[in-house]
Amino acid sequence: MSRTVAIIGGGYGGAAAAKALDEHADVVLVEPKDAFVQNAASMRALARPEWAGKMFFPYDRLMERGRIVRERAVSVDSRGVLLASGERVEADHLVLATGSGYPFPFKFEDDLAGQARERIHAVHGELAGAGRVLIAGPGRSGRGGPSRSPSGPRRGSCRPTSGSARTACASGPATSMATSATRARPAATYG
Ligand SMILES: Cc1cc2nc3c(=O)[nH]c(=O)nc-3n(C[C@H](O)[C@H](O)[C@H](O)COP(=O)(O)OP(=O)(O)OC[C@H]3O[C@@H](n4cnc5c(N)ncnc54)[C@H](O)[C@@H]3O)c2cc1C
Repeated sequence: MSRTVAIIGGGYGGAAAAKALDEHADVVLVEPKDAFVQNAASMRALARPEWAGKMFFPYDRLMERGRIVRERAVSVDSRGVLLASGERVEADHLVLATGSGYPFPFKFEDDLAGQARERIHAVHGELAGAGRVLIAGPGRSGRGGPSRSPSGPRRGSCRPTSGSARTACASGPATSMATSATRARPAATYG
């Protein structure tokens, strides 16, 4: 008798689990988004919006047998999952793969890939039209990847380049700092 596995979250972990278990069990993937999101490309897509079309992958070919429920899970118990709509998915096994949350533009709360793409293009436009940019956080994302700037400023340091188009500062958590900077004054293209 086949067993039902409910997987909550279709990110890297959940999607991989769904694909791997598809031939062994009745898989139900609970995921509100209409497409898998390649989060690692989000900074590049912001700098080069043509990449925005390459970071969303519809789930339609993920599984051959399993099904996808386009909903958000609100709770789980020993017999299954309660969905935001009030419906339940009964399951013998649960995989919790709801991942982590970062503010936009690092990750997306939009459930529709088209909406997320529009937001990327909008922020890119704001950045491209600004005179200067502050990148707070010299990590991999802030430097545009190690191959592009291996000698970026050290963590905890701040090296402003006044008068130039770019100012690189490094302090605090990269996600919140960079997002605040983007909101406060979107500036020149980076990445
Ligand atoms: C800018 C950036 C660059 C990165 N670069 C790299 C890299 O180069 N290499 C690397 O290894 N890692 C990288 N990471 C980290 C990587 O993205 C995360 O480790 C990865 O996303 C975690 O995968 P996950 O499946 O656990 O969760 P996620 O990818 O976050 O997926 C979670 C899924 O669960 C869904 N979900 C959430 N709540 C619910 C709910 N209640 N009900 C149903 N579904 C729900 C979400 O919609 C989402 O689809 C990067 C992250 C960012 C932000």
